Amino acid sequence: MARGQSALDSPAQLTRALHVTVAAPEHPLQCRCGTVKGFVRRPKRLTRCICYCKDCQAFARFLGRGDEIMDAQGGTDAIQIAPADVTFTQGKEALACLRLTEKGLLRWYAACCKTPIGNTPANSRLSVIGLVHSCLHEGTSPHGASSPEGGSRGGAASLDAFFGPVDVRVNTKSASGRVKSQPIALAWVIVRFAAMLARARMGGHKPTSFFSAAGEPLVTPKVLSRSELNRLQSFSP
Ligand SMILES: [Zn+2]
Ligand SMILES: [Zn+2]
Repeated sequence: MARGQSALDSPAQLTRALHVTVAAPEHPLQCRCGTVKGFVRRPKRLTRCICYCKDCQAFARFLGRGDEIMDAQGGTDAIQIAPADVTFTQGKEALACLRLTEKGLLRWYAACCKTPIGNTPANSRLSVIGLVHSCLHEGTSPHGASSPEGGSRGGAASLDAFFGPVDVRVNTKSASGRVKSQPIALAWVIVRFAAMLARARMGGHKPTSFFSAAGEPLVTPKVLSRSELNRLQSFSP
């Protein structure tokens, strides 16, 4: 103390301290009501895309939160990462799973407040989850509360800062307004995505927050009936 030294006196110490502050290695994940909480590790590789397909739209409508989950053209912002990068710290028992059809993707959500979490292939060896943006906004403000309107989109800047900007918009034909298709960006994303899956397959089976070591989903999915699906897909925005 008499020498007046602080922990940050040398340039090396200062750099280390700044690095720890700037490079937050995790992003909080939370359902709207706060029952389900967890975090996403900063992924080495990711693809962020907005999907306008009728299935993603049907999922948003199934949850009854279409206007919060989808943008004005019916697109869902989803970040494709490895499921192993997602960890739940509480409320895992509230996790539910939906399949739009017998063979459809597993669409995971928090049953407590119908917040979408993400979509995975049913085969856990295809190790990818399209994390839906809605579970990544809450808890990113100092108060962790959502604003009365449009709260689910409030943390877009935090998403950009952590995951980077949207790479591509896909299935734009089923968008409800005009969305420009991006063939070159899409081709590039497909190549990256295939490489990510190939690497994941070489890694073999590992339990994740969604699948057991045997590759079984941790929650039995509910499968929609054809009439339920038709109703959700024919809904006009
Ligand atoms: Zn909830
Ligand atoms: Zn989709």
